Amino acid sequence: MQRFACDLIIDAAWVLPIAPENRALSAHSVCVTDGRIVALGPTPDVHGAWEARHRVSFEDGILTPGLVNAHTHAAMTLLRGVGEDLPLERWLRDCIWPLENALVNEDFVAAGTELAVAEMLRRGITTFTDMYFFPETTARVARAAGMRAVLAFPVFEGSTAWSRGVEDCFHLGLALHDACRGDPLVEVAFGPHAPYSVSMSTLEKINMYAQELGLGVHIHLHETAHEVAEARRLHGRSWVHVLGDIGLISPQLQAVHMTQLEDDEIRLLANHGASVIHCPNANMKLADGTCPLTRLVANGVNVAIGTDGAAANNSLDVLADARTAALLAKLQAGDPTVAAAPDMLARATLGGARALGREAQLGSVEPGKLADLVVFVPDSPAALPLYDPFAALLHTGSAFSVAASWVAGTQVVHAGQPRLLDETAMHAHVREQAQRVRAHR
Ligand SMILES: [Zn+2]
Repeated sequence: MQRFACDLIIDAAWVLPIAPENRALSAHSVCVTDGRIVALGPTPDVHGAWEARHRVSFEDGILTPGLVNAHTHAAMTLLRGVGEDLPLERWLRDCIWPLENALVNEDFVAAGTELAVAEMLRRGITTFTDMYFFPETTARVARAAGMRAVLAFPVFEGSTAWSRGVEDCFHLGLALHDACRGDPLVEVAFGPHAPYSVSMSTLEKINMYAQELGLGVHIHLHETAHEVAEARRLHGRSWVHVLGDIGLISPQLQAVHMTQLEDDEIRLLANHGASVIHCPNANMKLADGTCPLTRLVANGVNVAIGTDGAAANNSLDVLADARTAALLAKLQAGDPTVAAAPDMLARATLGGARALGREAQLGSVEPGKLADLVVFVPDSPAALPLYDPFAALLHTGSAFSVAASWVAGTQVVHAGQPRLLDETAMHAHVREQAQRVRAHR
């Protein structure tokens, strides 16, 4: 019988496709051609029907869609471990912002992003949404490493190392958007830092451009009770309602944190199709509060998972945040049946893709989608025995390592190592920048 031709067949002990059905498939294989998934089926059937130029087999591997880290500040890996155990406002005002003002430049962002990319690829992440200065540099580093990145370019009223006021942010960000048109890996979104640090007229302007250009709006929102109380004092209502009034609550909105939410605010988010990015480890570490995952999901709001920057987490391991999110949701609901492992894996993959408006191309192992794929393999006794691959990855994720991953069919991790990143150079860049950080502390 004539077999179909494809570029690559990956055999795995388990495939977790996430959609259309979110269940574990034992001894399955995935076929890839021209960067897309073309078939998924039981290994003997796939080998009977398909012939590949390359074939890789992972006898104890779990294949999943590439993970999506839906919120980070990649270059802040260089500030990992500075300013520990401080409340959010003091942490920002006394520690992070002065260091950033003194140190952030293109070399800092390049070195920090190289470090972040090396870390994220090793944790199974193939797509990340970033909000940081010099997004052109972040774009260059992500592209070189083969990672998919959404660059939410920062919008600040004042001057930063990258920009001189709001107009300049727009100019630089939209120029980057133009430069990334047709780029298979990198796209651009608006990244207003927070409603309290950006004026209403700027937010209105962002909304106008975002609607016109079809771009995402990525913003820290309702991170602390203090922030919401300030909105009530200044505007007589919460930021969610203030943003709703100017049309910013839309399917393009990626609202990061959302630790303080009333029922009417959740309904507003649901009715307008906005996504929430839940960053539980950073929220717990800064004692900000808890995003009401179960209530959001029950009301039909898409929730994705982010790590936030490494200065606040301190890791970029999105599976670890998915686990924390599950544990918090169970405790908060007083119900161990909520936030089940398959649901949480779906949040860290398809939920992220949906937040980016990319659910038709990314987030699941389905024929027709882009081949962003990861294979996790047991790497410690804590991974064994393996009865339930969803629970294994979610609750003992650190006991697994990433053996291989692909972005649009291009292998980006091979034998556990990022394949396209010069790690020797990366370590030298990180050492050099860490010296500057030490000198300013
Ligand atoms: Zn953040």
